Amino acid sequence: MSGQISFVQLAPVHPEISARFEDLHPPFDRQAALPEANRCLYCFDAPCTSACPTHIDVPRFIKKIASDNLPGSARTILDANILGASCSRVCPVEVLCEGACVMNRYNKQPIQIARLQRFAMETFHASGAPLPFTPAPDTGLSVALIGAGPASLACAAELRRRGIRATIYEAHPLPGGLNTYGVAEYKLPLVESLREIEMLTQIGVEFHFKTFVDQAMLAQLDQDNDAIFLGIGLGDIHRLGVPGEELPGVTNALDLIAGYKSGELTTVPPRVAVVGAGNTAIDAAVAAARLGAQDVHIVYRRGEEHMSAFNFEYEHARLEGVKFLWWVQPTRILGGDSVEALELTSLEQPGQETRLTVDMVVLAIGQGNQAGLSDELQRERGRILIDRATGQTSNPKFFSGGDCTNGGREVVDAVADGKRAGIGIAAWLEAKLAGA
Ligand code: SF4
Repeated sequence: MSGQISFVQLAPVHPEISARFEDLHPPFDRQAALPEANRCLYCFDAPCTSACPTHIDVPRFIKKIASDNLPGSARTILDANILGASCSRVCPVEVLCEGACVMNRYNKQPIQIARLQRFAMETFHASGAPLPFTPAPDTGLSVALIGAGPASLACAAELRRRGIRATIYEAHPLPGGLNTYGVAEYKLPLVESLREIEMLTQIGVEFHFKTFVDQAMLAQLDQDNDAIFLGIGLGDIHRLGVPGEELPGVTNALDLIAGYKSGELTTVPPRVAVVGAGNTAIDAAVAAARLGAQDVHIVYRRGEEHMSAFNFEYEHARLEGVKFLWWVQPTRILGGDSVEALELTSLEQPGQETRLTVDMVVLAIGQGNQAGLSDELQRERGRILIDRATGQTSNPKFFSGGDCTNGGREVVDAVADGKRAGIGIAAWLEAKLAGA
């Protein structure tokens, strides 16, 4: 598929889903953005910038908002983070830039960096302006990138800026990986993810969708290109390994989220149990509530203090009416033609069993590592081992980044990995040419 085709036009349109998954935080308008930008102290040693994995120059982009230079602000953001629009919506800023803002030390509300960033980026997108980068002259070098998630997209952008051809191969029909298919719609609408990615075609990034790269195809791409980037994400969601798991009505969080985002799933049954207590579990539980379930439980085998979901996600789920059961382990899923109940055993009081009447069970207990592609590369705990500064793997021609190397972190971490790898690939190729 060439860059001539609009990704946005390929996006499924489901007004009912959009209405149910309205924005969690309304965007700033100019009247709100200017005073907020003027609150910033423009710290010289900006801790907000250090806390950002992609090191966006936060005081600089905020200052440009304050002086009404919105294109300049967007350029500052894009310079550091090509997915600056989606990161402004999905980053856990409470534990990154906003958590590091000096205002916290003075017991004042931190600068609303994410909303300012979103304001700058959305104004930029609405203006219809092209990406403010011109690729360097063609070097004749080419890189194949496997997977169209945030890591590959960021890597491809860096390569194109250096005049290196970047072709992305993706098994799904649309680009973006979890940004498109796995982030709750009220945080990042699918169409917004596509709008941002479409801009990469302007600088010559090429995409091939519905293209599953197996070992044989990878060997061919290896022959035809000067380097390979693996942005292959994680593998399947873990299973519970309990009887009844094959019953209709048992699904996993990623399928549930992708299902409603693509419009294939518009409703869920009245009683839903989500197993797990990470951020994806929260997204799935809130989705179930918004898709019509009246009774949504999150069941977790440990306590409230152990859950990996961020505190603000937990609070959000409670506000949406999600109930939590702590220290319980699912032991069986009961039902006939479909799920009828989830059997739970208490881990606090051994021998105590309860039955939760449910019509749907959603598994959100983590994902395994990708296997079956480039298994010969050195790995650590199943993750592809890379040089963290350059993204280079144990095969010097292969680079990697994102979830397949870090076990599943934030979108912004994947962008940072991809960016480092793009720069790393260019440096490696340059050194190779110089030594040839
Ligand atoms: Fe502005 Fe806060 Fe960053 Fe200082 S730490 S530059 S006040 S956003």
